[in-house]
Amino acid sequence: MKIYDKLVDIQRDIRARSLTCSDLVAFYLENIHSQSDLNIFLEVFEEEAIAKAKEVDQKIQNGTAGRLAGLVIGIKDVICYKGHRLSASSKILENFESLFTSTALQRLLDEDAIVIGRQNCDEFAMGSSNENSAYGAVANPIDPERVPGGSSGASAAAVAARMCHASLGSDTGGSVRQPASFCGVVGLKPTYGRISRFGLIAYASSFDQIGVLSHSVEDAALLLEIMAGKDPNDQTTSAKSPKLNLVSTNKPKVGFLKECLESPALDPEIKSTCHQLLESFRKEGLEVKELSFPLLPSLVSTYYVLTTAEASSNLSRYDGIRYGHRNAQAASLEEVYTQTRTEALGAEVKRRIMLGTFVLSSGYYDAYYGRAQKVRRKIKEETHSMLDEVDLILSPVVPATAFKIGEKSEDPIEMYLSDIFTVHANLAGIPAISLPLGSHSNGLPFGVQLMGKAFDEETILSFSTKLMNK
Ligand code: GLN
Repeated sequence: MKIYDKLVDIQRDIRARSLTCSDLVAFYLENIHSQSDLNIFLEVFEEEAIAKAKEVDQKIQNGTAGRLAGLVIGIKDVICYKGHRLSASSKILENFESLFTSTALQRLLDEDAIVIGRQNCDEFAMGSSNENSAYGAVANPIDPERVPGGSSGASAAAVAARMCHASLGSDTGGSVRQPASFCGVVGLKPTYGRISRFGLIAYASSFDQIGVLSHSVEDAALLLEIMAGKDPNDQTTSAKSPKLNLVSTNKPKVGFLKECLESPALDPEIKSTCHQLLESFRKEGLEVKELSFPLLPSLVSTYYVLTTAEASSNLSRYDGIRYGHRNAQAASLEEVYTQTRTEALGAEVKRRIMLGTFVLSSGYYDAYYGRAQKVRRKIKEETHSMLDEVDLILSPVVPATAFKIGEKSEDPIEMYLSDIFTVHANLAGIPAISLPLGSHSNGLPFGVQLMGKAFDEETILSFSTKLMNK
């Protein structure tokens, strides 16, 4: 089977009758089964995908197929798909079935995308390594001793290992971009409010966005265009047109953050790749500007205070009464709550619920939650004013390449600190992409990040298309 990086190539071969959706589904299923030890899919919708492929092949013959005919996707286990199980990789949602389909996914299904399965992730999307899943850690297909990143680790790994053409992940603080960097694929996090969160399990609602993992920028752009837009079920969605022109001739001004590239934790090869790229932009006649962002050291703490606060509230609904698992021995209502949550939530999720409850508690609210809100406001303001001066900001995605499974599990703070470059876009609500432009002498890939102005995915995506197709 030919390897396809772009949906247009798949569709061209389908039109030429040298390829069918059934061939594609068979190819991905074979890759899923032959690499099942990577622990990527929690559930494969095998029969269903085979049947749907036949149906789409028929539609193609009749000339009634949608824009995504030929696209086979996987979905992170935090995205509702009616009649299918949904667990957020947690024991607390074991055997829970979605009662409706998320808006984002429904829009893809309406264009004839085929869903091949449900992908593992960090429990409730909390993590940077995919080791926090109640269903076991996921291995990186490039080096199975290493993590694929997180929390959408399996979604990135599935694309890298050709188990589907693209995946839907979610990005609260980097969960699409960081695993994209570790697995060598494209990861797009749109502007907050671009894609409906209806049917996405909430982690930190003022940060969460659905994002795309793919091999090409063009496919990320196409999926974004189809999923984006107003949804009456999510009042934070914007009606702004998501129409994207990827062949823009505009020359963007590119900025970089001095503090970012001077960060002591940054791997020297990643740093030099960023500098080389900036140099190549200068040579092409683009304006490159050094920016200063003194708030950089406050990003991680602000992010973790606010997201754990939101998580402690969002996760209070998993009480043993309304969803999934319930402790069988509990003798009182209080015991149902405490015993169910004690036995069915993982250590990282509990740590964050406790931290979030603490920062919201009456004695500490002003000192932590209130203060972090003020810092977030400052981060947003300063970021927006930097983006008045430049169109794009280039930075690393992660300070280093994929680490070994187990290497950082003992030290949650170290894991949190590695989110420094990705949480910025979520705190500010702006779009960002991870492009697989780096390859390290240790044999592992790494990504380069571009952040842009709110609702200006077009500049990010058109510039990224050029960079990737060079
Ligand atoms: N690694 C970050 C965290 O653990 C980001 C997670 C995410 O984006 N869902 O919170």
